[in-house]
Amino acid sequence: MASSKADLHTHSSYSDGLLTPTELVERAASKGLEVLALTDHDCTDGIAEALEAAQKYPQLLLIPGVELSTDMPQEEVHVLGYFLDWRNPAFQDRLDHLRRSRIERGQKMLAKLRRLGIALSWQRIKEIAGDGAVGRPHIALAMLEAGHISSFEEAFDLYLGRNKPAYVEREKITPAEAVQLLTDASGLPVLAHPRDLLNPEPLLVELKEAGLIGIEVYYQDYSQQAIERLLEVAHRHDLLPLGGSDFHGIGGEHERDLGDILLPFEPVEQLIALARQRQLLQASP
Ligand code: AMP
Ligand code: ZN
Ligand code: FE
Ligand code: FE
Repeated sequence: MASSKADLHTHSSYSDGLLTPTELVERAASKGLEVLALTDHDCTDGIAEALEAAQKYPQLLLIPGVELSTDMPQEEVHVLGYFLDWRNPAFQDRLDHLRRSRIERGQKMLAKLRRLGIALSWQRIKEIAGDGAVGRPHIALAMLEAGHISSFEEAFDLYLGRNKPAYVEREKITPAEAVQLLTDASGLPVLAHPRDLLNPEPLLVELKEAGLIGIEVYYQDYSQQAIERLLEVAHRHDLLPLGGSDFHGIGGEHERDLGDILLPFEPVEQLIALARQRQLLQASP
């Protein structure tokens, strides 16, 4: 399969990915990527390690990033942030708070599962999550491991999906708050995987106002038709058309490998130029 020069959406073991940041960077380099963004869910703790690992590969630009989970009344919306000043104390405080709420929420989901006859140990969930912020994928893996379900997807279809019996909401933050939070931490906010949003137009207007600079157009299994529709949306709202694989390294039917999403390089260059312009990136030596 042809490979892209950039992948702007990836997860490491610091959220629900399988590879450590070092392994992720090494894999990206071996695939010939020139730009890689690490975008763990609600967590930036893998960035220092990734930057360190990327020093070995001068041809690879590692973008410090994050993917924030946010909530609308009817759906979950993810917002990516690129080139962010991840050490910003106010930003870290907010992330800390969101992560702690994930722990309580994970325990509540386990309690619901127990009432449904599925007993999992919190200890095991924590082991699976490792350094990562506890999420539904970790619970799904524990269910699979204990033989309660026959596939990862089944955990979501039967129990953990929104509106399914073991689902519990996370602490809420709106997409506009996330865009603001990222902007306050010098990040460049981009709306993640927007194909299936129920009512994207008013949301895009609101987010653009709050500082959104792009949307994902090239993503996982997006069809050519979906890509063309999203390109038009990006163009109309003056947003950069970006994207990536959302690589987690855990397999499953939707998994795409690093660099497997054909992302045109020009918008990536525009993203980097914007980062330079805002002095979020040192000019190349
Ligand atoms: P959480 O942040 O704990 O709510 O978990 C969200 C993550 O669960 C997403 O980023 C996906 O990786 C995964 N996920 C959500 N829905 C599904 C689904 N229907 N099938 C497989 N994975 C899912
Ligand atoms: Zn994930
Ligand atoms: Fe996402
Ligand atoms: Fe993701």
